[in-house]
Amino acid sequence: MDDTIAAISTAQGVGAISIIRVSGFDAIKIVSRIFSNKDFKDAPSHTIHYGYIMDDNDKVDEVLVTIMRAPKTFTKEDVVEINAHGGIMTTDKILELLLVNGCRLAEPGEFTKRAFLNGRIDLTEAEGVMELINSKTDISRKIALNQVGGKVSNMIRKLRDELALIISNIEVNIDYPEYEDIEEMTINKINDNLSDLENKIDKILKESKNGEVLTNGIKTVIVGKPNVGKSSLLNRLIGEDKAIVTDIRGTTRDSVEATLRLDNLILNLIDTAGIRDTDDLVESIGVDKSVKLIDQADLILFVVNYNEKLSSEDLAILDKLKDKNYITIVNKCDLDKKVDDDKLKNTVYVSALKDVNIDEIGKKIKNIFNLEKIETTDLTYLTSARSLAILRKVLDSVKAVRKGIENNYPIDMVEIDLKDIWNLLGEIIGESYDEELLDNLFSRFCVGK
Ligand code: GDP
Repeated sequence: MDDTIAAISTAQGVGAISIIRVSGFDAIKIVSRIFSNKDFKDAPSHTIHYGYIMDDNDKVDEVLVTIMRAPKTFTKEDVVEINAHGGIMTTDKILELLLVNGCRLAEPGEFTKRAFLNGRIDLTEAEGVMELINSKTDISRKIALNQVGGKVSNMIRKLRDELALIISNIEVNIDYPEYEDIEEMTINKINDNLSDLENKIDKILKESKNGEVLTNGIKTVIVGKPNVGKSSLLNRLIGEDKAIVTDIRGTTRDSVEATLRLDNLILNLIDTAGIRDTDDLVESIGVDKSVKLIDQADLILFVVNYNEKLSSEDLAILDKLKDKNYITIVNKCDLDKKVDDDKLKNTVYVSALKDVNIDEIGKKIKNIFNLEKIETTDLTYLTSARSLAILRKVLDSVKAVRKGIENNYPIDMVEIDLKDIWNLLGEIIGESYDEELLDNLFSRFCVGK
């Protein structure tokens, strides 16, 4: 981290302005070398300067240079940002001059990595930065912003503090067993406190499902026997011809994945090959896959034909959906009614062909996921897969300790286990980490972030 890094922080392409960012000990010195007639040596922090970037005596661009001195910067190092005219040639040229004059090209996410390593943000907040950049809806943006602002970290820190209190109480008991006016930490009390902690972790994990759904999208599958209009419906929902629509039964064999935004909901759609009884080998691969997809999905859009009586295939699919979040889409409502819909639940009547009532599908989905209610909560959710995996491990460990207590595990052994759990919680916010994890995490950022 001794070297000074530089990168283009705006998207590559033509735009009104582009920003080249420099961070590190020599940031101010290096930019001074390529700036017209000015040395920033004495420039106060957080000031903006007008001038030209120079390549020897040639003007490269007319720019604004922002000087930000450590430690009140994103990376806690000296940071200089050059606002140049947007344009690939100009921006690249400025970056090249910075590299020639002593900067190193930043790796993806290296600015944020430095912010983390210099203690400006913790790991959860760093992950929040990435989620903020990648957020696709207003609500996922809010969730990410809460994470960047430290709300999720605080939630984890609170759990850690509670655990620390339990541990310190145990220590008092071990160290001063004769010290009577300190409340005796009986084994029952430890167990109560741990049970309390377990409930809180459990709640965080359960609620995280909402966050996950809102941030990463609802894994949605469209099922139904061939020819009921699944592909047509998918096309109608997406508004583009991504799925193959055909009259020949069973030709939509491959899963077509697409992302659909319905207000604050993201649906990750998979068009299945359709579930039906079949002898055809190739077909049956698709059928098996559909059954598997139903199990993996958060939401199933089950399509039936308004113009046909429910068949045994329809009923078989319905049977598989019993304990699932699903909507029955009764399609082709532009034709005559033949469907015996008294057997159906959660129905929406649409026509994919004539674009009738398609909006109702979104409303129904929001209803199922209780979106209105979620929108009024404070949206502090643990959403990163990494953190969730650790927290699940924490939950299991707390449960194991409680079992140990029931089996008269010695108290000093309990204490050791609890300290391990405390460390594990620390991994979520990055109190301890390994290099590989960091490299892996930050490499998913863009260059310049
Ligand atoms: P899939 O096999 O379930 O994917 O069904 P397709 O989307 O390929 O549709 C099968 C046939 O039904 C095509 O000829 C579509 O044009 C037709 N179709 C789809 N939706 C409707 C609808 O709402 N009304 C009518 N009348 N025909 C439809």
